[in-house]
Amino acid sequence: MKRRDFLELLPAGAAAFRTPGLFAAASEDKIPRAHWIDNGLIDAGGSHEPYLFVVRRGGQRLDARKEYESHQSEKTIRAIKDAGAEVFHTHLYKGFGMAAEMPEMQDTVRAAAFAHSIGLKVDTYIQWNTMMYETFFAEEPRAKDWVQRDAAGRPIMLTYGFQQSYRYRPCFKNQDYLDYLKKIVRFAIQDARTDFIHFDNFDLNAEPDSCHCPWCVNGFRTHLKNKYTLEERKERFGFSNVDYVNPPEWNAQNPPAKMQIIFDPAIQEWIDFRCQLMADALRQMASYAKSLNREVVIEVNPHGITGGNRAWEAGLDHTRFLPLTQVFWTEEPNLPGVQQDGRVVSKIRSYKLARTFNNILLTYTDRDEVAIAECLAFNQTIGWAGIYPLTEAMRKYIAFYRANRRLFDGTRDLADVAVLRSYASITYNQPRCQLSAILAEQALIEAAVPFHIIFDQHLADLAKYRVVVLPDSECLSDPQLHSIRAFVERGGGLAAVGSCGLYDQWRRLRVTQGLAGLIDAQPAARAYEESVQRHIQEGQEQRKAVGHGRVFYLPALRFDGPLPEFGANFRVDNRFWKHPANARQFLDGLDWARNGEPSVHVEGPQHLIANAVEQPSRRTMVHLVNYNSREAPRKDVRLDCRNPRGSNVASVSLYSPDLPGPVKLEAAPTFRIPEVKTYMIAAVEWA
Ligand SMILES: [Zn+2]
Repeated sequence: MKRRDFLELLPAGAAAFRTPGLFAAASEDKIPRAHWIDNGLIDAGGSHEPYLFVVRRGGQRLDARKEYESHQSEKTIRAIKDAGAEVFHTHLYKGFGMAAEMPEMQDTVRAAAFAHSIGLKVDTYIQWNTMMYETFFAEEPRAKDWVQRDAAGRPIMLTYGFQQSYRYRPCFKNQDYLDYLKKIVRFAIQDARTDFIHFDNFDLNAEPDSCHCPWCVNGFRTHLKNKYTLEERKERFGFSNVDYVNPPEWNAQNPPAKMQIIFDPAIQEWIDFRCQLMADALRQMASYAKSLNREVVIEVNPHGITGGNRAWEAGLDHTRFLPLTQVFWTEEPNLPGVQQDGRVVSKIRSYKLARTFNNILLTYTDRDEVAIAECLAFNQTIGWAGIYPLTEAMRKYIAFYRANRRLFDGTRDLADVAVLRSYASITYNQPRCQLSAILAEQALIEAAVPFHIIFDQHLADLAKYRVVVLPDSECLSDPQLHSIRAFVERGGGLAAVGSCGLYDQWRRLRVTQGLAGLIDAQPAARAYEESVQRHIQEGQEQRKAVGHGRVFYLPALRFDGPLPEFGANFRVDNRFWKHPANARQFLDGLDWARNGEPSVHVEGPQHLIANAVEQPSRRTMVHLVNYNSREAPRKDVRLDCRNPRGSNVASVSLYSPDLPGPVKLEAAPTFRIPEVKTYMIAAVEWA
């Protein structure tokens, strides 16, 4: 079905809520979910490197062969199980071609059989993004045409240590490569009998390293023709024949990493094309895997929300591929804790992204109790437990989790507030809109306010939120604006920051401000502009009742102190993750816009951060993490919990790995916790 036909089948307006590329996904069947991880995941390894790669990479220990064997030995696998893990992670395929890797793939078949025999599930590593050409071309000479090539025709490579030039990136628009990858997936499922496929390096290189192979150049033009009618192409480009449109090119005078605001329609569409081809390739692979075994879990390694412009830099729009996965990795370095200069660093954004799409996040936590506590609080399971031997901290938290698992099973995040991460706003104006989203999230995190992160498609149904935050959501489509307006009129709260709804989804300046009538004091925006203004004209704070709802407008979330210099591609890395100077003003306005008591309110010392979850009609759990636990326990925390269905409190209990057992408090909706060392769960049972 062509996209145009599909569009006409949708209810009016529903289509425009999605980023354009989502149509392919929306028009196909859903990928079935595996159920065996419904009650959480405790995954540990086993190295993911085959010996062949360790040797080819160089720099190994002289006993590397012995080490390789020990990672799949019965002793290691048994020890992983004894430490409380439930899934054994091991290597399967690294990118040398199946012929070269077969002996070690057979090692994995044997190790997996043993793991299964003692009751573990098996998680196998498959390299998504590597062709080690020296062996691969020997096995499959046609593979020379499967390589990603830059505009000059040179192979595009991975970047480890700047010296792995034997690792070409394959093109994901190339069906021959995808068909080859399916053979590996089949081996994983039918021979190794894997329960879980980890696809590593799920990303693309940043410009100028984008693929200009014939599959991509022709694919881009076809993508434009499928996406738009002749008339729409004319509206988009000024002409309708796109047969000569090329992917963007760069040179010394035009460095891509310096581009600030992305207004060129062809570059915008090229970003969309790259994001879509990654999602489409994964969809093919996931559908194929599920046709062999519906209970196989699909996992990818793309990073989470780290402050980068991932659509532009890496061809990744999480909203398109997380519906295909149940687990994903983030290898971001952001170890949680309070920094010397007072910044609170966390991976909370990435965990929230995972929860929005019903995924589990895997990340490195095992050497730090705050990190493991953050994971249990925001991920609701252990996820990645580490490599054998597991750390003492991890064993302590696994034991706590397994003893209290019923508190984590089937929970959903409980929050009144939703923060929008608008694709077009952030992708096309990263320095301003990403920073604003980061600061809004930071203010909520540090005030221990539970919140959801939502994306464009979620604007179609805002009924479950009481306040929606638009952090410089500049680019909103007509249906999105309509939905926000309807939400407020029906009684919702809006907290709008900076510039909101001033542009459409292609970042064309609206003649009438998109939220006119809701926000009266927004300064006018500019149309064509090449660089970000350092000093923007600010409007006035505004509080206004509209229909049954309330609108709070804050002209800007102010960075506290001098803004760090942006590096390449304007990454808003954790140097920017600072409590905004006017956070109080923002939070007060948010409170006012909510127009009523919150479902969960935490009042306590600084650096105590909260997440709330519920098992509907049974229990509400408030998870508290002391991000400054290296310094001192947090004392005297006050909690208020309201049941949305009006039930009474039957009991209140505290659980912590730092307590010998659960502690019962007096059953009341408001209660005090004397002390939180690192991690505490307050569980309120409803009558
Ligand atoms: Zn290509």
